[in-house]
Amino acid sequence: MKKKEKVWKNNIRKVVPYVPGEQPKDASVIKLNTNENPYPPSPAVQKALEEMRELRLYPDPAASALVEAIAEYKGIPKEQVFVGVGSDDVLAMSFLTFFNSDKPLLFPDVTYSFYDVWADLFRIPYKTKALDETFCIKKEDYYEENGGIIFPNPNAPTGLALPLSEIREIVLHNQESIVIVDEAYVDFGGESAQSLLGEFENLLVVQTFSKSRSMAGLRIGYAMGSPALIKALNDVKYSFNSYTMNEPSIVMGAASIKDEAYFRKTVARIVSTREWFKGEMRTLGFSFPDSASNFLFVTHEKVPAKEIFEAARKEGIYVRYFNKKRIDNYLRITIGTDEEMRTFLTFLEKYLQNYHSNS
Ligand SMILES: *Cc1c(COP(=O)(O)O)cnc(C)c1O
Repeated sequence: MKKKEKVWKNNIRKVVPYVPGEQPKDASVIKLNTNENPYPPSPAVQKALEEMRELRLYPDPAASALVEAIAEYKGIPKEQVFVGVGSDDVLAMSFLTFFNSDKPLLFPDVTYSFYDVWADLFRIPYKTKALDETFCIKKEDYYEENGGIIFPNPNAPTGLALPLSEIREIVLHNQESIVIVDEAYVDFGGESAQSLLGEFENLLVVQTFSKSRSMAGLRIGYAMGSPALIKALNDVKYSFNSYTMNEPSIVMGAASIKDEAYFRKTVARIVSTREWFKGEMRTLGFSFPDSASNFLFVTHEKVPAKEIFEAARKEGIYVRYFNKKRIDNYLRITIGTDEEMRTFLTFLEKYLQNYHSNS
């Protein structure tokens, strides 16, 4: 007799999780696969640890020190700032809070691969909109009826930024739904939609400390929006877990915000490495969308991306390869230090030379 399925199995929420990039144990790996910053956080961040409250106490549930530091830095009231455990937490909360329509959520077909995971987790209907053949977002695609809109700017993994004027057009056409702009990479070259917040109550702008502030390990992200949106996010957060932000993150995050000079210096360094690296990659026969972020999304005229990915990995250089429709012949390469990029280029030169002479 066939064994009967356990009924409780039907009650388990079935999800296909997001797969984060590899975090190798071996510290000698040149890690260009998860868009981390190659430079350490501001020295002020380390110093702030000494001023921390006792760890036996619960942290401030409102994370006021961090919220206020961000609000002051951005020149907005603290009622317009929400913080979370990385922007992934802020975005997940936002999906739960704002996308409760029967109409589909809209986002690009090639984009941050967590969006469809959250949509599935929260049972949010969604529809993807194909980027054009140059990987640009077509703003008109987002003028149809929807239950919400989300896209990164600059987009990931393409690195392409949408001009602020086009983002404004998208929000202008969507006064009935909430529009989220995920600005994880905006500090490296995009124009922030923060300047549109005064005009639109239904716009949420999400940023992170993980990339431009070198603090991926602390997990700090935040959203800026109208007081109505921020209140809604806080209501959901307090219905879920009062203490999402731990004490070290609150203290060290606020310290990072206060060291503007260091932030500018390291971001400028990465941008300058990126621009030099673009030229070198073109010379080697690679093409790519013109990145405004801290990574390059490249394809080679002759050599398959997957083969380069595997060969680089053997040499201890990790980049990101996505085995997905439309982008399975591309590599996403994080901009590291000049030295790391030089090592990668030396590997590529040799590899491509051998590849050509063997074929
Ligand atoms: C890295 C990234 C995030 C998440 O960053 P956190 O580390 O969770 O702050 C969100 N969106 C995009 C597009 C990203 O690339």
